[in-house]
Amino acid sequence: MKILLPTSTAGSLPKPSWLAQPETLWSPWKLQDEELIEGKQDALRLSLEDQQRAGIDIVSDGEQTRQHFVTTFIEHLSGVDFEKRQTVRIRNRYDASVPTVVGAVTRQKPVFVEDARFLRQLTKQPIKWALPGPMTMIDTLYDSHYKSREKLAWEFAKILNQEARELEAAGVDIIQFDEPAFNVFFDEVNDWGIAALERAIEGLKCETAVHICYGYGIKANTDWKKTLGSEWRQYEEAFPKLQTSNIDIISLECHNSHVPMDLLELIRGKKVMVGAIDVATNTIETPEEVANTLRKALRFVDADKLYPSTNCGMAPLSRRVATGKLNALSAGAEIIRRELAAK
Ligand SMILES: [Zn+2]
Repeated sequence: MKILLPTSTAGSLPKPSWLAQPETLWSPWKLQDEELIEGKQDALRLSLEDQQRAGIDIVSDGEQTRQHFVTTFIEHLSGVDFEKRQTVRIRNRYDASVPTVVGAVTRQKPVFVEDARFLRQLTKQPIKWALPGPMTMIDTLYDSHYKSREKLAWEFAKILNQEARELEAAGVDIIQFDEPAFNVFFDEVNDWGIAALERAIEGLKCETAVHICYGYGIKANTDWKKTLGSEWRQYEEAFPKLQTSNIDIISLECHNSHVPMDLLELIRGKKVMVGAIDVATNTIETPEEVANTLRKALRFVDADKLYPSTNCGMAPLSRRVATGKLNALSAGAEIIRRELAAK
């Protein structure tokens, strides 16, 4: 990356109200068939423009073509029956009715590759594409076929690798895997979670990232956060192994969170996407607040490896708030760039 402190978002951005109900997760589409395809592309264009106007350096599709960051990917695979539902506990946090794995999971056709090509032809800026990580995928399903979380994760890793290779060929610069489950299942993360992630990135020449957060700003997550006490040390569990992994970039929740910043020392040498925007509040950060979080991170991350970002996706926020937060992110990064240049 030529620019110092390149900004990006963790992933999703709000959808326009003519496409889907705003400020809602799993919001149903308001259009159908051809109109839906066109509507998604229009929304992607708008989302890109919002990012560009705010001065975001590494842009994304804002996840405008997906209903949910995990479900939409799984919907495109075979072996999962969405009619057959079971109630399971997601990330040990809340119950949800989820689809059932009924046979071998396979990817018959590309999932997001067309969308990535569409985004690629709209901009020359670096683009980042988010996919769910294998461990987070298995956590949203009931498995009556493999009957092993590890085996299912491994199968998903192979599928994700197929998709990732095609995204790379479509011109994606950074492929990001969302693994909020890494903050919950510590033994599994170290036993096979990181290995499955490395299987997913096998053979890729583009950059790769893993996003580990404390979730969207929805009630189940904010309630859970209240139980975590004053110091959130969850990252400590996965960091040592991630530091020695092949993943290039680690995307984290830092702003307004109780994560002790010195934990970043454990991944020294990796590029770090530092969450400097809180997605669980409608209060728009001031540039100085963003800059403050970045300054703290700079004590543990070398300046050329620091990527200012958001704590998580902003899909559940209003467009006005999300745009304000994008502007604050850019302005905050600029403050630090000037400080570094003056040194
Ligand atoms: Zn997240």
